[in-house]
Amino acid sequence: MMDASRILEGLNEAQKSAVTSDTAVLQILAPPGSGKTKTLTSRVSWLLFHKGYKPWNVVCLTFTIKSAREMKERIAKQIGQGLEARLVLGTFHSVCLRYLRSYGHLIGLPKNFDIAETSDSQAIVKRIIKQKQFLIDPATARSRISHCKSKNKNYLDVQREQKKSVEQQEFVVIWEAYQTHLEAAKLLDYDDLLIKCAELLRSNPRCVSNVEAVLIDEFQDTNNVQFELVQLFSRYCKRITTVGDPDQSIYGWRSAEIENLKRMQRIYPETLVLNLENNYRSSPQILKAAQMVIEQDESRPAKTMVATHKGVSSPVLRLLHSPKAQASWIVTEIKRCRAATGNGLLDYTDFAILIRSASLSRQIETAMGNAGIPYRMVGGLRFFDRKEIKVLLDYVRVVNHPENNDAIARIINYPPRGIGEKSIKMIQDKGASSGRLWWELIVDEVGPKKPVGLKDNITKSLRVFHNIIATCREAVSSRSDPVYPLELLELVIKKLNFEDHLKKEYPEDYEQRWANVEELKLQASEYGVTETEPMYEDPDALPQLDDVEQTSTDLAQAALSKFLGNIALSTELQSEQECDEQGKILSKVTISTIHAAKGLEWPVVFIPSVYKGSIPHSRSDDEDEERRLLYVAMTRAQALLYMTCPSQGQMSEDYVLSPFLDERNVRRCLTNRAPSVYDQVQEISSILRRECPSAKIVSEAITALTCIEDDDVTWPLNGSKGAWKDGSENPLCSAYALTQNRCARDS
Ligand code: ATP
Ligand code: MG
Repeated sequence: MMDASRILEGLNEAQKSAVTSDTAVLQILAPPGSGKTKTLTSRVSWLLFHKGYKPWNVVCLTFTIKSAREMKERIAKQIGQGLEARLVLGTFHSVCLRYLRSYGHLIGLPKNFDIAETSDSQAIVKRIIKQKQFLIDPATARSRISHCKSKNKNYLDVQREQKKSVEQQEFVVIWEAYQTHLEAAKLLDYDDLLIKCAELLRSNPRCVSNVEAVLIDEFQDTNNVQFELVQLFSRYCKRITTVGDPDQSIYGWRSAEIENLKRMQRIYPETLVLNLENNYRSSPQILKAAQMVIEQDESRPAKTMVATHKGVSSPVLRLLHSPKAQASWIVTEIKRCRAATGNGLLDYTDFAILIRSASLSRQIETAMGNAGIPYRMVGGLRFFDRKEIKVLLDYVRVVNHPENNDAIARIINYPPRGIGEKSIKMIQDKGASSGRLWWELIVDEVGPKKPVGLKDNITKSLRVFHNIIATCREAVSSRSDPVYPLELLELVIKKLNFEDHLKKEYPEDYEQRWANVEELKLQASEYGVTETEPMYEDPDALPQLDDVEQTSTDLAQAALSKFLGNIALSTELQSEQECDEQGKILSKVTISTIHAAKGLEWPVVFIPSVYKGSIPHSRSDDEDEERRLLYVAMTRAQALLYMTCPSQGQMSEDYVLSPFLDERNVRRCLTNRAPSVYDQVQEISSILRRECPSAKIVSEAITALTCIEDDDVTWPLNGSKGAWKDGSENPLCSAYALTQNRCARDS
């Protein structure tokens, strides 16, 4: 075991006292970059190491998968022993999913329920509205359902409300039909995961009788249901640590209650509130500009934020002639930055482009593509949304439970086998009128009964589909040992002759698609076992409440449910780290929405399109929340911050600079000149020095080069021989060699 002093290493006094506090209810309220997450993570390690808490009794809730992963990694470094894998640590959704998988049967949930992803549930609502011939916009109805659910309401509550308009009445009808549909198909949507988990914990408190502590990051963004969950998880232990920052509350539009911070203090009057003031993330120039933005909200209490780092250059605000010019300016600047630091000191991973809404990314993606800069989109088309992947997963879902009419609808004619819209509609109508499942109708239709009455040639095609599903189901049910996800997937691939299908259907990019299938297989192989490991042990399993014997079907089912569940909850484009053929990790620029970037940091951050209508967004009526969103974006930057707006020249009427930036105090903190190469190198190297001591050499070497003008800097770092043009040795080169693999690589 590691030396426990490691846990407090590198923390300041305020952080240390938060980590080690014996107070039962602790709330840390502090500005961005003050080490809240770091402190919370260290507190988890502290509780495990010094207080002897068992990891499976510690519930730790985060908002993004990425931050959950980072916390796990940090805890692993601090205490090792694989204990972090046994923590109940994850996003609210994934922790609730874990509880429902383990104990959902106590509230009557079917064992093998599946998750309706956003696009699935949107499609269901759309179909209901069409059937009922209502005029409500499906997207609006769907988000209203979600909004009500996160306020802990169900459709009966809305039904009971006084004086309902026709629209409200229709809304209740849609919601009820939607809920009935989910239930019949054994589906839970994202909101249901939280609601059902709360229901479970309310009625079965013994599920949490083991919990010793509950810790939550980004508490300012919790909604009512999440707040109740925190109370429920801590029902017995009454030990809660929350960290948050009211200035970073950006989920009001999704019913988050900034009030929850105060509510916590009211419900638990003994709450100890701690503050952290030092900022360890950003340069003072960046902090100052961000502060000027947030201080425009005069209703907010004044706060102190002290920069602990030195900085050289001011954040850049650059006005350009068009969105296209903006995109190409950003690309050029990324290249210049990289070149300035020797095309190696800075990885592409050190850059982020943070956008207000996903639709803004197209121009930038094109420019990046043209320039050959690799990037990953967070919140864009996910790996699991790709056609070939979605199809295979739907087959697996239907084999798993054929009650899933929606999944059947998506694959009944894929690969194309001549079952058209009309035939599908006939099955759908028959299903609706007879109340029978599609799968039951299909089984009868390929036999003598023919309840739907499809034409013979269509029935022939339907038989192909039926055969695939039926033989896979047979293969699974006839076996005494568990059939784990990988085997099931391989079975489906074989039955579909999928590789040949891809070759025929997509001759131009068949290889890429098949590689995706291989990747999916790889991921599936992590669930369940291989032959060499006879026992299936799930590190995420919660303690068993009752002595129930697990049959092999249960084990296979658990593995499959977990596989599908994790897929539904993953928001990453692909597995986080993609590698090239030699196994080297590919470095990519991150393009992310601001919402998805919260809690994270990058050395270089770009915020494009800071115009009125984008930020503040034209569809938002909460100007303060929009301002906080810009504040969150700006405070993600460590060394260099660039904001751009296509508001020059002919575009000046379409794109007006955001009022948040067009203000004297803010403008004074910004410059329109991109930092010189020298300043860039200074800024970046100061970050590297923080992260790993050997990078110190680099910045010292750079200091010795102060006299060099921008244009003369052609850092000869690309090759192993780094001499200046005149043949003399360049100190940066040896330093570069030392730091090539930066920190992770260093520690
Ligand atoms: P946010 O509000 O944006 O989520 P935060 O308060 O959670 O920010 P962290 O992400 O925990 O801040 O920390 C910001 C950065 O500062 C991280 O790189 C972290 O490692 C570093 N840091 C935190 N505390 C210290 C410290 N005492 N000494 C040096 N670096 C620190
Ligand atoms: Mg944080």
